[in-house]
Amino acid sequence: MEIRSILFPTDFSEGSSQALQYAADIARRYGAKLYLLYVVHEIVEAGGWYVPHPSMDNIYKDLVRDAQKELDEYGLEELKGLNGIERRVLRGVPHEVIVKFASDNRIDLIIIGTHGRKGIDRILFGSTAAYVVRHAPCPVLTVRLPKY
Ligand code: ADP
Repeated sequence: MEIRSILFPTDFSEGSSQALQYAADIARRYGAKLYLLYVVHEIVEAGGWYVPHPSMDNIYKDLVRDAQKELDEYGLEELKGLNGIERRVLRGVPHEVIVKFASDNRIDLIIIGTHGRKGIDRILFGSTAAYVVRHAPCPVLTVRLPKY
């Protein structure tokens, strides 16, 4: 088994910070490339044909720019000394974008927190984590915060 590329999707929550330690350690041990991905949740109406108003597009562009800044500073301590880190911000429906990113970039392992910003409403997994586990093209390591 080879782990050459790892995807770590993050919503900057406590749940995903817990998972970051595993992503950093496994990337280090395997000498793997590590992608950090944040998805700006873009509202798409059912059917997918909704075209956002231009002013919405500007709002999303601002959100992407701000998120990129936050992601660039994210996990600097935990990831110290690791080479080959890529930090990406994309737009869309987070769980779909995460799975597509994993396919498009031939990711070998996804490491994801079981819960994110919304927290407690589901017992085992939050909705993003649940979808990613079911649809990912590669193995998924889920990391639970002790309080869940
Ligand atoms: P909850 O429903 O508790 O918010 P989620 O399933 O949405 O839980 O979150 C689980 C994990 O999914 C997070 O720890 C994070 O790693 C990832 N995640 C959630 N939202 C995003 C997002 N917008 N971009 C990237 N990763 C995300």
